[in-house]
Amino acid sequence: MTRYRDFHRRSIDNPEAFWRDEARRIHWETPFETVLDRSNPPFARWFVGGRTNLCHNAVDRHLAERAQQNALVYVSTETGIERRYTYAELHAEVNRMAAVMRSLGVKRGAVVLIYLPMIPEALFAMLACARLGAIHSVVFGGFAAPNLAARIDDAKPVLIVTADAGARGGKVIDYTPLVDEALARASHKTPRVLLIDRQLAPERLNASYLVDYEPLREQFFDAHVPCEWLESNEPSYVLYTSGTTGKPKGVQRDVGGYAVALAASMEYIFEGKAGDTMFTASDVGWVVGHSYIVYAPLLAGLTTVMYEGTPIRPDGGIWWRLVEQHRINLMFTAPTALRVLKKQDPALLKKADLSSLRTLFLAGEPLDEPTASWIAGALGKPVIDNYWQTETGWPMLAIPRGVEALPTKLGSPGVPSAGFALTLRNELTGDPCPPGEKGVLTLNYPLPPGCMSTVWGDDQRFVSTYWSSIPNHQVYSTFDWGIQDEDGYVTILGRTDDVINVAGHRLGTREIEEALSSHPAVAEVAVVGVTDSLKGQAAMAFVVLRDAQAYAEGNTRTKLQDDLMTTVDRQLGAIARPSRVVIVSMLPKTRSGKLLRRAIAALAEGREPGDLPTIEDASALQQVREGLQA
Ligand code: AMP
Repeated sequence: MTRYRDFHRRSIDNPEAFWRDEARRIHWETPFETVLDRSNPPFARWFVGGRTNLCHNAVDRHLAERAQQNALVYVSTETGIERRYTYAELHAEVNRMAAVMRSLGVKRGAVVLIYLPMIPEALFAMLACARLGAIHSVVFGGFAAPNLAARIDDAKPVLIVTADAGARGGKVIDYTPLVDEALARASHKTPRVLLIDRQLAPERLNASYLVDYEPLREQFFDAHVPCEWLESNEPSYVLYTSGTTGKPKGVQRDVGGYAVALAASMEYIFEGKAGDTMFTASDVGWVVGHSYIVYAPLLAGLTTVMYEGTPIRPDGGIWWRLVEQHRINLMFTAPTALRVLKKQDPALLKKADLSSLRTLFLAGEPLDEPTASWIAGALGKPVIDNYWQTETGWPMLAIPRGVEALPTKLGSPGVPSAGFALTLRNELTGDPCPPGEKGVLTLNYPLPPGCMSTVWGDDQRFVSTYWSSIPNHQVYSTFDWGIQDEDGYVTILGRTDDVINVAGHRLGTREIEEALSSHPAVAEVAVVGVTDSLKGQAAMAFVVLRDAQAYAEGNTRTKLQDDLMTTVDRQLGAIARPSRVVIVSMLPKTRSGKLLRRAIAALAEGREPGDLPTIEDASALQQVREGLQA
């Protein structure tokens, strides 16, 4: 491990020298004056004074050497559409989109909210924002109108980009009515909505604020929009993520640090070289999509594959056929997708020629041993788990095979990446844990380039949420439990807070509780995460009714349970829908009134909750047991 150890130590002992070298990977229009500004901890500013542009580095810079290489391969099994764009074509499309946005008043520093399905225009829109120096905020297309409204009010966009519809598993989802409802709910008034009309929606809305993209694209067909050179620390994007409160946090990212970190990660972790093809099966609405569908592969001159559809349609062999057809070298997805595929005919995997594939990367949720062993055996290629968060933008833990081909260890995503001064700490004292002892996974100041710069519009929240939870030390908390072995490998043991992870997506149980509480029949509610064999975790809701008598009868009760699930669909989106709504007459609480969520989760998983000295009324546990059996 010597090579890795020296590499990592250098990144921690002398981050300035380490990242000064890495910064050569990207083009700086104006060189930076200072590598790292530590004058205002816990804020860190990277490459101060340097001016650069993400779109220039991802697109324009490659025109000299790879104008005719594919930059983007787009495949939709929902619509049957397949398109390829060379770097030259991508450049033209991004210029068109940037010109259209500019004509609609988008300027440097303005926010553009992108609410799009997996279509090439999502990538064009993100890069067009980067080109103009505008800040994109991509909202996952599966989120419901109230969720979208909350993000509109926080991000205050000057423009929203949407489509007539998305599609998943053959089902068309109209987007325009959702946008319309969100606009009506939001206090912030967004003047215009740019519409990509895929001609999918049976009844597309017509509203005066909607502007069709296609005629404008024609109008600006030959446009050339120069890249705005941004100071390295200006914001590039805001991406919302769930936490312990009902209000999602806007994770703000910079420009220069992000570009450098992603470019470095492509060599050290992903071993992706210019000319390679990478298929990241995620969504542009998540951080994995931002970093490894859009920015990192393009920054490094790869071809990125963008896919709209599910892993099992038309059948469970579709992803492997894509590998064969497009000679994919690197693949990246979440363990849930593999658990889904494992249930399909395993022979489908063997039918495809997978000789181009070098490595499969997995992240977003714990990788269970049976899935890891199955896929490693079936593929016969390295399977690299990696651990990170929306906040960090790129993997904190991985096997840095581009530095040294360290062995993988089942159950562990690996060792700390460059620049991550990772320490497991005792939750009560804040002291570092010795190897083998469980602690909270924390990062020492400064966070490396590419990590969040702050919470959008709320510096104080950045400090109070992330840097103030560990006693006696101002360190960044990941809110994950972990354990580190003698060799430095870390195993993740779950969240320390009320956040759950469903199919690789982070959900705040409080958000789901708030949605359910809005239903008139609900008096009290607790939402917990329970183990699920497919999705890793599933949300389960325990509800106390205002008038239990009214719903005593079987049919009315079942209808209410369905109704409660629909309430969550409407407020948050189907991804947040609880797998089950259990009606109880009382919830277990402490004497100070705090919900005993862990005890409820234990019961839901068929375990005993153990000693609960602070419980107010132990008979509540029996109520939960009975509710589960009903
Ligand atoms: P998100 O920001 O939505 O990507 O969620 C990040 C959270 O997902 C982390 O804080 C972890 O709880 C979990 N997570 C991500 N990757 C892994 C992994 N490889 N192993 C275990 N948990 C993970």
